[in-house]
Amino acid sequence: MQTFHCVCGNTIFFKNTRCESCQRRLAFLPDQRRMSAVESVGGGRWKSPDGALYRRCRNYRRHDICNWMVPAAESDPYCLSCRLTEQAPDLNDPRQSLYVYRLESAKRHLLYTILQLGLPVRTKADDPDWGLAFRFETDRDPDTEFVHPVEDAETVWTGHANGTITINLAEADHVARERMRVQMKERYRTLLGHFRHEVGHYYWALLVDGTDLHASYRELFGDERQDYGKTLARYYKRGAPRDWNNRFISPYASSHPWEDWAETFAHYLHMIDTLGTANDFGFVVQGRQIPPAPYPDTVLAEVPFDEILDLFIHLSIGLNAISRSMGVADLYPFVLCQPAKDKLRFVHEVIHARSSHRGVDQMSLFDARNALDKAVAEA
Ligand SMILES: [Zn+2]
Ligand SMILES: [Zn+2]
Ligand SMILES: [Zn+2]
Repeated sequence: MQTFHCVCGNTIFFKNTRCESCQRRLAFLPDQRRMSAVESVGGGRWKSPDGALYRRCRNYRRHDICNWMVPAAESDPYCLSCRLTEQAPDLNDPRQSLYVYRLESAKRHLLYTILQLGLPVRTKADDPDWGLAFRFETDRDPDTEFVHPVEDAETVWTGHANGTITINLAEADHVARERMRVQMKERYRTLLGHFRHEVGHYYWALLVDGTDLHASYRELFGDERQDYGKTLARYYKRGAPRDWNNRFISPYASSHPWEDWAETFAHYLHMIDTLGTANDFGFVVQGRQIPPAPYPDTVLAEVPFDEILDLFIHLSIGLNAISRSMGVADLYPFVLCQPAKDKLRFVHEVIHARSSHRGVDQMSLFDARNALDKAVAEA
């Protein structure tokens, strides 16, 4: 994530709500994809330095769990990010509100990258069939670090189904999440990682499934028509194949071609966000300046993918060494084998081929999906 600047010149971060230096109110302007100081002009309206008018998201104003603005011309009380949340626990309960704050923060971070990539974001209200939605639910008691089940509650599975992403609230509790990471023998488990993985499933359905890219997907990731339930059950029983690290980006990626794609998609976002941050802070790796993140609307999107990957690998080796200097876990605890690199390249190509920054009409993208559904239903 890049840093931004307040009108006073102070460096500001994506999560900030007030400038530490001049005390001005800060907010993210989704339509301009940047953080900015905003000035109150009365009547609940705020002005950015370039004169554009906004309102604060209702979750910013009332609950302090959001820092995004709503352009004044839009009637929705919620920002683009909060609009996507269909179900969240009680925000008047301080503990649950803290969990929702952590989840929403990770979701906003995800959305920043998605917007930078020019990928479509539509709510279920705008498109019930192909819109995106998030649900944060729990089946265990938040007051016991999610150890004790909530009576009569149905099991909450973190996952994606038809554009709806469900995240178990326990993932937002540091103790509960770490316990699950150890139980699952995972090297990496974060909220941001969950969001990046689950949204990968959504974009697979929207951008790859049944399109001209589907055949290339199957060549690299395998045939996704194999029984999902059976292969997942086998994975949970026996674990990943012994040679998984010669073929996959993570053990879980070996469970099914859909999961392989979602894991690779998540790692692609890890990679470009990390590179973008390193560029922002002027990192030099092996004598090479890190270029800006290869978003489709930057000239540097033309940097060959091999070079992007090479820079990231060298950067991650250095960052892992720095992590060890601090006695904490490796920042990027993965080694990329050649098939994983080829899959990352494919994700890169899919995103760049479908980006609105490359002139792709996103409305027609959704229209095409809906037309396809209709044809299948009628057949
Ligand atoms: Zn300031
Ligand atoms: Zn909001
Ligand atoms: Zn998945």
